[in-house]
Amino acid sequence: MRAEILSVGTELLLGQIVDTNAQYLAQRLALLGIDLLFVSTVGDNLERCRQTFERAIARSELVVSTGGLGPTEDDLTREAIAAALGEEPAVDPALEAELRAWFARRVGAMPERNRKQAWLIPSARPIPNPNGTAPGWDVRTPRGRVVAMPGVPREMTYMWERHVEPTLGGGGVLRSRTLKLLGIGESAVEEALDVLVRSTAPTVATYAKNDGVHVRISDKGGDAASADARISAMERTVRDRLGRFVWGVDDETLGGVIGRGLVSRGWRLATAEALSGGDVARTLSDAPEASAWYARGVVRPSADAAALEALLADTGADVTLVVPVGAAGAELVAVTPRGRETSVIRFASPPEGRRRALLAALDLLRRVVG
Ligand code: ATP
Ligand code: MG
Repeated sequence: MRAEILSVGTELLLGQIVDTNAQYLAQRLALLGIDLLFVSTVGDNLERCRQTFERAIARSELVVSTGGLGPTEDDLTREAIAAALGEEPAVDPALEAELRAWFARRVGAMPERNRKQAWLIPSARPIPNPNGTAPGWDVRTPRGRVVAMPGVPREMTYMWERHVEPTLGGGGVLRSRTLKLLGIGESAVEEALDVLVRSTAPTVATYAKNDGVHVRISDKGGDAASADARISAMERTVRDRLGRFVWGVDDETLGGVIGRGLVSRGWRLATAEALSGGDVARTLSDAPEASAWYARGVVRPSADAAALEALLADTGADVTLVVPVGAAGAELVAVTPRGRETSVIRFASPPEGRRRALLAALDLLRRVVG
């Protein structure tokens, strides 16, 4: 099934709010194995809104919209859908009674402008909204399906999960696994993967992220077990080529992996950093149960390796890491009971140096404690 998301609201176009509804819906559709082909945003303008719905209905089988279902002048989604489909909205007596009862329980008489929240068009059924006033619309026509929900995220997610998702079965499941790599760039990863990135079952895609390069293996199979089996086979192939760079899978974090390594060896860690400006200490102290293995983290701007090592002399830690200052390069040093390991980085600007220093430090640590 081809799906499209339509976010309605001038606030979105002005950058006043971020479209978290579209992000949420995109993730949910992917989990259902439904192909999402377009995400559009349109302001509170009837003509442009109608056009956008018309285009979406023409090219997608499922159109999911959020926003514009309120009672005010600029809430125009109902009008736009009706116009796009050439249908006439009319007040539904049962919905109107419910709406009046809702107001009576809370604030008294219903303002007349709220009456349009009781509108329906002939091909729409209402989607209940216990968290607000406006019901959604589930419109089914020979030309496709339109699901219109309110903009308020809490109202929207409830409707989607309770009333819409259960009607969307049959798309097959989408399963995926993400391998996380460090110490190698995205283009080098692509080169190593070679033709694998053109595979279609499963698919293999690379992403440059804050914690290195991610390789995401996804499969849309009939059932979860066969999709998982294909993913596992592809994971072995990827690891054959890039295994030494892989530090984690799915939700694992660098701090978590380093902490686990330290705990399994019964080691404690101390760090002293200049170039990374405290980023190493922050990442490590945010990790689960850091107090069990993180003995000390010191930040000393502009300090060289000898000065930093001196700051850790009395910690009694089994593992020490120093990240010295540098202009265009730096040598990081980790010392463990097994010996001394270094990692050299090069960079063109202070911000790049700081970023590279953090990743190189965490990569060095995960290697020496692994
Ligand atoms: P209401 O009945 O509250 O007016 P509505 O369906 O008319 O609901 P909007 O007026 O478009 O929805 O949006 C209401 C609020 O919901 C916005 O002020 C914003 O806080 C939030 N919202 C709307 N659209 C989105 C979106 N795409 N992503 C995240 N939040 C949103
Ligand atoms: Mg509104």
